Amino acid sequence: MTGVQSEVDIGATQAARLLLGLPIAYGLSVALSRKAGDREVLMIDFSWPEELQMLRRSLRGFLTQELAPWERQYQAYFGGERRRLQDDGRLVPELLALLRQARRRSGELGFYGMQMPAEVGGGGISRVGVFMAQVEAARQGYGLNLAVMAGPEGASPMLLQLPEPLKERYLGPLLRGEQSTCFALSEPEAGSDIKHLQTRAQRQGDYYLLNGLKTFITNAAYADSAQVFAVTD
Ligand SMILES: Cc1cc2nc3c(=O)[nH]c(=O)nc-3n(C[C@H](O)[C@H](O)[C@H](O)COP(=O)(O)OP(=O)(O)OC[C@H]3O[C@@H](n4cnc5c(N)ncnc54)[C@H](O)[C@@H]3O)c2cc1C
Repeated sequence: MTGVQSEVDIGATQAARLLLGLPIAYGLSVALSRKAGDREVLMIDFSWPEELQMLRRSLRGFLTQELAPWERQYQAYFGGERRRLQDDGRLVPELLALLRQARRRSGELGFYGMQMPAEVGGGGISRVGVFMAQVEAARQGYGLNLAVMAGPEGASPMLLQLPEPLKERYLGPLLRGEQSTCFALSEPEAGSDIKHLQTRAQRQGDYYLLNGLKTFITNAAYADSAQVFAVTD
């Protein structure tokens, strides 16, 4: 895609890179503990730790200084479902390309993979920190911000169970926002009741032959790979 403006605040970007390189353990800090008669009085500080406040500022900078101008430039696609979708219900290709570009940029800056452990190339941000970032992204409405944080189309902890060669093949590109996946559990006859799944996976030499139907799978139409739940015996 050409002509996309890039105006992100470099200071904020650098801060995000630095920050996302560090695993952050979020905890409620007990600010004051003192004895009052027989009772222990604890004061709990509920404010965000400085590291997470920095993360939020960096993310806000990315959303407002880099993504918002893209959205203004391509505002025709952000004016309602009719303009977003083709007759077959899929996203129009231009919007899909734009969302992918936003996702990749978020991956470059370290936001997209922040929920995964640092050992595998993620940001190592705590669950609370990721939630804070999701709220920050959601504040921007219904636009390119949707591509900034990983949802079911991104890397999830389940992928940490993959054998090493597969981890390298699938996890890295997902963390960097270069590819997307989908979580294919639900079926028309079983819903998400895993005990009654009907999809079967039959071993055929060094691959599995899959037979079955899935439904309601977010991002299935655009995914580069799928995590498919199937019965093997
Ligand atoms: C927007 C959207 C995106 C989705 N994305 C994905 C995806 O990416 N991947 C995927 O695999 N699936 C996806 N799904 C499917 C979703 O995970 C399932 O629809 C959901 O888990 C509910 O399961 P179900 O359809 O089997 O409903 P059920 O579990 O059958 O539930 C139907 C109703 O019955 C009630 N119910 C269920 N069990 C009981 C019980 N024991 N006692 C009393 N009441 C009960 C429930 O509360 C509910 O009201 C998506 C669904 C939507 C709507």
